[in-house]
Amino acid sequence: MTDISNEQYKISQEPYYRAVGREVELYDAAYARRMPMMLKGPTGCGKSRFVEYMAWKLGRPLITVACNEDMTASDLVGRFLLDKDGTKWQDGPLTTAARIGAICYLDEVVEARQDTTVVIHPLTDHRRTLPLDKKGELVHAHPDFQLVISYNPGYQSLMKDLKESTKQRFGALNFDYPEAELESEIVARETGVDSEIASKLVQIAHRARNLKGHGLDEGISTRLLVYAGELINEGVDPAYACQMTMVTPLTDDPDMRETLEAAVETFF
Ligand code: ADP
Repeated sequence: MTDISNEQYKISQEPYYRAVGREVELYDAAYARRMPMMLKGPTGCGKSRFVEYMAWKLGRPLITVACNEDMTASDLVGRFLLDKDGTKWQDGPLTTAARIGAICYLDEVVEARQDTTVVIHPLTDHRRTLPLDKKGELVHAHPDFQLVISYNPGYQSLMKDLKESTKQRFGALNFDYPEAELESEIVARETGVDSEIASKLVQIAHRARNLKGHGLDEGISTRLLVYAGELINEGVDPAYACQMTMVTPLTDDPDMRETLEAAVETFF
């Protein structure tokens, strides 16, 4: 058995999540059937916050794994470690989640190599099992266990995409930046700036989002607007705050930088 208590993964305080559509009730229904879920949408649009909120609402522990291309199946499943008494098995986060009945959130799963991703297959069909080949154990997932992955359609390329056989194991919900009024509300609530400033930040973001595909790979995320609001609330001049959060991180191209700066100047 694992020695990790599930208390540390419990979300004790309600995370602030502003629903933008019917995603809460749809997720509730999916969880009732323990359906594996894929949350699709650009970076920084609220997917992780949504999972935190749902884990809190459902009273389930949440184990999040940020995926990357160096990740191996052992990083998810577990491995034998050497200590003074010899070798000792240590569960990986996926195994822990399956044992304790957590929601396991694999963030940016496309980043992981396909040979890593396939370890989730037996957990995402009727078997709901996880074979620990090296240990010679077959873990039967706890009845409350659920697997959730996030997926940014903008990033995928021929080299990096989920196998069709992986994709077709998930129900999916689409996420995007919230519409203007809602996004202003979120920025104001998250940062404490007034609604006028929040609305200006959102309008700048809208201008930048129109540049996606015309020199910008991704639009300005809600996360970056929250950063801008936080700096403004710390007393930073709004023009500098926008430069730091909505211009400099996004581009190295001088022309694009000028275009973004012009958008900022229109409002601040
Ligand atoms: P993602 O997982 O899609 O990359 P996050 O969930 O981390 O993005 O969202 C980034 C930030 O944007 C959050 O920390 C939160 O401040 C804010 N945010 C975005 N959407 C919402 C929402 N609907 N309700 C509350 N906060 C939100």
